Amino acid sequence: MELRISNLSKTYANGVVALDNISLTIPAGMFGLLGPNGAGKSTLMRTLATLQECDSGSVFFGEYDVLDEKDEIRRLLGYLPQDFGLYPKVTAYELLDHFAVLKGLSNRARRREVVDGLLQQTNLYDVRHQRLGGFSGGMRQRFGIAQALLGDPRLIIVDEPTAGLDPQERVRFHNLLSDIGDDRTVLLSTHIVSDVADLCANMAIINHGHVLLCGPTQQLIDEV
Ligand code: ADP
Ligand code: ADP
Repeated sequence: MELRISNLSKTYANGVVALDNISLTIPAGMFGLLGPNGAGKSTLMRTLATLQECDSGSVFFGEYDVLDEKDEIRRLLGYLPQDFGLYPKVTAYELLDHFAVLKGLSNRARRREVVDGLLQQTNLYDVRHQRLGGFSGGMRQRFGIAQALLGDPRLIIVDEPTAGLDPQERVRFHNLLSDIGDDRTVLLSTHIVSDVADLCANMAIINHGHVLLCGPTQQLIDEV
């Protein structure tokens, strides 16, 4: 489904204009939001994830009014924030199982199937009984994706997921993202050009809360 953002603005209490009349149409598939630190990416992601209020504007995901129908959107949404805490003393299986309960998967057998499937999909099945505190950066990010995929969301928002990953983990993470982007709308925010170039058919460049360019990735990269 298409995500349509119209005239979205946000000024923080300290006077910083984080989003300055942003309009963007994001088609199904993988979409890259490229911009330097401070561009407004996280503010936009949190707004789309219904975790933060904006001052004005509208957002529709298909027929759903994202800013108004928050409960419906949360059911359709998977969100991987930039910095997410993991409980270091529990295992990957335990925490994912816990989140699955919170998502409403009350049937034990069904939950086990879903949790095992996500651990396999993210290449964490073999380490599922290890504590999260011992996970590398790449393993943590893949765990974050497993968590975001609970409930089979139609819209996935990932905020700077590859920051700090080594090249090998980055490739592994790219493969994972391209698998999940096939039949969903995935919005990937990053300041790393190759994340977008490798993964996203369409992209936008934002800075100072403005959309500078938007279109097919190949075309924009050829122009720059
Ligand atoms: P990005 O994710 O692209 O780095 P952000 O959305 O985090 O951008 O930030 C956009 C601008 O808004 C920056 O200037 C940042 O300092 C400012 N900002 C972000 N969050 C807050 C906040 N809670 N209060 C005040 N200013 C903020
Ligand atoms: P790298 O060493 O390439 O940075 P990681 O440390 O994240 O990458 O792990 C590489 C792969 O090996 C991952 O797929 C991870 O699931 C697996 N792995 C890492 N540590 C262990 C472990 N202690 N036992 C089993 N598998 C592991």
